[in-house]
Amino acid sequence: MAGFVLLTLLVGLLGFSFVETSTRQLLEAEARIDAEQWTKDISRQIADLKNIAAGSAPSPATAAYLRDTRHLGRVVSFRIYNAQGILKLRSDDFGKAPAGSHTINTIDREVSPAMDNGAPLTIIQKSGARGGPEYFATTILPVMDEFRYVGWLVVDVDQSGRRALFVSMTTKISLVVGLLLIVASAFGFWYRTKQRANIERTIDTISRHDQLTGLINKSSFLKEVDDRMAADPTPGLQASLILFEASNLASLSQAHGAEADEFFLRATAERLGAACGDTSLLGVAGHNAFALFMGGVTDPMEVLASVKQLVGQLGEPVNWRDEQLSLHIHAGIALSSSDGANAAALMHSAELALHSAQEQGTPGYGFFNPEIAKDTRRRVAVQRAVSAAAASQAFRLDFQPVYSIRTGELNGFEALIRLHDQDLGAVSPAEFIPVAEQLGLINAIGAWCLQEACRVASQWPPHLMVAVNLSPFQFFGGSLIGDVRHALNLYQYPAYRLEVEITEGTLLHDSELVLGQLRVLRDLGVAVALDDFGTGYSSLSYLWKFPFSKIKIDRSFVQALEEAHSAKGILRSIVKLGHGLGLTVTAEGIETGKQLGTLRDIGCDLAQGYLLDRPARVADLAAIIMRNFANGLSRRSRDAASSVPPASKSAA
Ligand code: C2E
Ligand code: MG
Ligand code: MG
Repeated sequence: MAGFVLLTLLVGLLGFSFVETSTRQLLEAEARIDAEQWTKDISRQIADLKNIAAGSAPSPATAAYLRDTRHLGRVVSFRIYNAQGILKLRSDDFGKAPAGSHTINTIDREVSPAMDNGAPLTIIQKSGARGGPEYFATTILPVMDEFRYVGWLVVDVDQSGRRALFVSMTTKISLVVGLLLIVASAFGFWYRTKQRANIERTIDTISRHDQLTGLINKSSFLKEVDDRMAADPTPGLQASLILFEASNLASLSQAHGAEADEFFLRATAERLGAACGDTSLLGVAGHNAFALFMGGVTDPMEVLASVKQLVGQLGEPVNWRDEQLSLHIHAGIALSSSDGANAAALMHSAELALHSAQEQGTPGYGFFNPEIAKDTRRRVAVQRAVSAAAASQAFRLDFQPVYSIRTGELNGFEALIRLHDQDLGAVSPAEFIPVAEQLGLINAIGAWCLQEACRVASQWPPHLMVAVNLSPFQFFGGSLIGDVRHALNLYQYPAYRLEVEITEGTLLHDSELVLGQLRVLRDLGVAVALDDFGTGYSSLSYLWKFPFSKIKIDRSFVQALEEAHSAKGILRSIVKLGHGLGLTVTAEGIETGKQLGTLRDIGCDLAQGYLLDRPARVADLAAIIMRNFANGLSRRSRDAASSVPPASKSAA
């Protein structure tokens, strides 16, 4: 705006100075032409002009002529000077007194500029005299005789009319030009402002909306919900926020490409838009999630009925490239009366309700429930912790020693993964491994465990084994064999010193697929142990169908030794069975000397448990290994001592 005012001022100033200078120049030029024309005219008529300039009095004919023509055309008066600039004749008092009386013996200032210059000169003047023209131009012309100055003729030309005309003309021109300039710049200013407003509107639309579906995005949705909740505090009525998520979208887009993903999201947005009235608010709430806000709810059961219908509609098959595909829709419902007083709280409750609906597996929906929400909240927190740890490789492996029951010697270690989260503290693998499996992160985590275990174990004496737990999902991920090979190669770690532990659950699903990979591992030289034996189906057929080298009896059996008499018999049978199949038998979770004693009695091979050692940090392993080495030495020297004759024993 300031620029615009400045421009207008500048245009005005320029216009004014243009009118001024052009008027002056025009008037000067015109006056000179008039004066010269007048001089030419009278020179033709009077022969004694030069004489008059030289000082002679005009002849009577000249005098008569001059009297008649002194007001000829625009010429209003004239004066004749001699070459020295002394006034000789003046039209005003011409004819009254003799010219001689005007002779002033000084050079008149009027002609001196032209005398110095030697050329005609025109000066525009504003008259102060009454009765005379307001503006007139005085032109001083030399009077020449051959090539000699004989005097100066000063002619006053009335320029008032002309000046007025010029001024009005140039003023009009500059007014029009100025106006055009101002209009043009005003238009430019308006156009630019409009353009900027358009751009701002576009940016606002983009930042508030989801590009794919055209629906408002999550932050705009939340803001709008807050506004609506604040604007409508009608007592007795409540609002509800419903979150819809297409749980199988990721697998659909994996199978059919990203285009399918976009197609389904757009189709779902359209279906939701068509099904929901204008009074409800619809937005996106994540990649595959939509949020719906409904105000003025009188009965939560109404909401439930509409959500049921919507979940059904959204899950109806869609035609994608001649294939009928359908989304698995889950919905979580939160009510303003109980589950949140503002948009963010409602959204959070709806998220938790959605999670618990998803836990049920099949497409479904549910209200927010504080009890379930507690579990769900924990699971969500663990999910976040696992994702974060996987992204930053923040897992750790601890190692729990495994001893030979018969000799007490260290046999090796089991690698156990650890997760420490800033908010949750230590999270047990029993809790976070299933979450990692659900998130599809277990293959990457499992590959890391294999590498880390081989790296650490490659520092140990060559008779020590390392055992790594495998998740069933690693067998279905397709990279397990490659991961094992890579870990072994990376640290030049011999396969015969690696053992993998699987649970019976692994064998349940696609046993052919698992069996094939177990055989490859066995062929590589890797030992395979059946972990947690006794807790699963304990189908004995597994034991001879799969190439195991070891079974690990679950901790619950070992603990039962203290409680149930039958436990000892069962354990003895398991050990016998294992040995019968040529397998090593390990007992897990040994916490008391009594348990260890019993296990030794029934012939169990290896022992693992808090009684012997807790899982230890990598930094502490060297000490454990050294201690066992020293124990082994003293035992060996004791054994050696007990086998020599008493005489030499005392000598030793
Ligand atoms: P698991 O393979 O049966 O591991 C033995 C579990 O028993 C470990 O729990 C160990 O700390 C615990 N334990 C050992 N001795 C005793 C004892 O005397 N008393 C008691 N009460 N517990 C004892 P942790 O480390 O919490 O691991 C739990 C489960 O998580 C493991 O059971 C295993 O199934 C899984 N897991 C651990 N690390 C990994 C891993 O790297 N990959 C996979 N896929 N699963 C793992
Ligand atoms: Mg294990
Ligand atoms: Mg176990």
